[in-house]
Amino acid sequence: MPRPLEEQKVIQSAVKEKDELIVDGMDISGHWNRMFGQRVIFDYSVENLEKVAALDGGESLGWCYGCAKCTGVCPIDIVGDYSPRKIHRRTQTGVDLFTSEDLWLCTTCMNCLRVCPKEVDMIQIMPAVRERAVLDGSVPDELQKAFEDTAKFGNPLGQPQRKRAAWAKNAEVPVPIMACLNGDGPADVLWYVGSYPSYHPRGIDASLAAARIFNALGVNFAILGKEEKDDGDTQRLAGETGLFEMLAEHNIEVFNKYEWGTMVVTGPHEYNAFNNEYSKLGFKRPVLHYTQFLAERLHDLRPLLKESVEARVTFHDPCYLGRHNGEYDAPRELLRAIPGLELVEMGRCRENGYCCGGGGGGMWLDSFTQDHTRMRLSERRVQEAVEYEADILAVCCPFEVSRFEDAAKSTGNDQLKVLDILELLDHSMQGGKR
Ligand code: SF4
Ligand code: SF4
Repeated sequence: MPRPLEEQKVIQSAVKEKDELIVDGMDISGHWNRMFGQRVIFDYSVENLEKVAALDGGESLGWCYGCAKCTGVCPIDIVGDYSPRKIHRRTQTGVDLFTSEDLWLCTTCMNCLRVCPKEVDMIQIMPAVRERAVLDGSVPDELQKAFEDTAKFGNPLGQPQRKRAAWAKNAEVPVPIMACLNGDGPADVLWYVGSYPSYHPRGIDASLAAARIFNALGVNFAILGKEEKDDGDTQRLAGETGLFEMLAEHNIEVFNKYEWGTMVVTGPHEYNAFNNEYSKLGFKRPVLHYTQFLAERLHDLRPLLKESVEARVTFHDPCYLGRHNGEYDAPRELLRAIPGLELVEMGRCRENGYCCGGGGGGMWLDSFTQDHTRMRLSERRVQEAVEYEADILAVCCPFEVSRFEDAAKSTGNDQLKVLDILELLDHSMQGGKR
């Protein structure tokens, strides 16, 4: 989607074209011959770029030297017209990022930062500019709703706080709650369940599977139930810093209320929040993603995996477990431990894994993103899994199951199953009963 010329502020009169021109016997009459004359001159002010670079966190946008390495790896550019280089150029040539739709498309997936020689850091730039836009009340409606629901209910799904542990009633195994442990504490493991695994039907499927797996392994665990609130990290990346701080303060107080050894989280976003952001606020305790926790217990888990899963399975690396935190192996170790399962890698995997579109607030911007791209990132990813002839797309982030299931339907690939690794492990453990 090229920008209209008037937006680029091209001075048309500066373009020199010869109606008739022969160079080395070649007729290059018309607009092509401008390359032999004076180049197009752009008239721009650096004001918009300076506005971004002046923000705490926005400085690095000014460091871009236009090498375009980021453009080749940005997931949005594959379905649209986007990359840090393009954002840099646009702000140089008159676009105000504070009011541009470009502000809300970045998913903070970090693939650009991985390759950028100048360390232009969209993970700092975007939240800094978005924070200002949030303060100005200039936020897409669907994102604003997620912010308001999080503030009111403690979760972006707008579900009642008191029902946060309601899912556990269907677990058929004990799911102890910290506040009810009485004399049975302390718990070895504090399992932070998360919002989507507590309320979303497909997230609940993974939670039920986790509860059964923890019980089968004899893990002494407990959850926080209605005392747990959303981690808030995705809201922070989408610009709602105040909301993040409020949630972090609440959660840290609850974490510190109880005695426990290790925290296990279901989602990569919580993993990132507690290890990298809550630690800045004074919370410094061991936190593991469930794939890491279970991979450490493979010796005990493997004998429980009785049922063969005869399927060709590909794995989607979550940006916030992989690129942001360097964990690529634990999920794969678990998948390889399941008998019968054939693991195939997609072309975009591990460090270069594609983004599902849910990070950085994208989870709550689907309609907005759809209006500004050719297809959703989740749809592109599903197509890739199908290109690799996978039967199952395995995931380990609670944002992804519903995103990819929707994408499988909307692209006409209903045959592709989307399952959390917890569900695959549980299926193998239960002898195919689940
Ligand atoms: S990789 Fe970095 S320096 Fe190169 S164009 Fe992209 S943002 Fe600019
Ligand atoms: S963080 Fe990801 S989505 Fe955002 S600009 Fe970089 S590569 Fe593109």
